[in-house]
Amino acid sequence: MNCKKVILELTSYLDGALDASVRLDLEQHLFRCKDCRLVVDTTRKTIQIFCNSEPVPLPDDVRERLHAALIERFRRDSKTI
Ligand SMILES: [Zn+2]
Repeated sequence: MNCKKVILELTSYLDGALDASVRLDLEQHLFRCKDCRLVVDTTRKTIQIFCNSEPVPLPDDVRERLHAALIERFRRDSKTI
């Protein structure tokens, strides 16, 4: 297996949808290839963030500041119209 194949099979691998033999090939490649390990790791974390059944809520103060910033921006924008 080469790096390109790893990238192609990456989502199936993370879904657990790969055949055992292909998965073994892929894992052997990951063992040797630091670049692909990094890609798999990053992708897995990204998927966990976006597909988590319990989304991480924004802390209240962050949400309020974000909200205030958006309102402020909206006000400024509407003044220029
Ligand atoms: Zn690789």
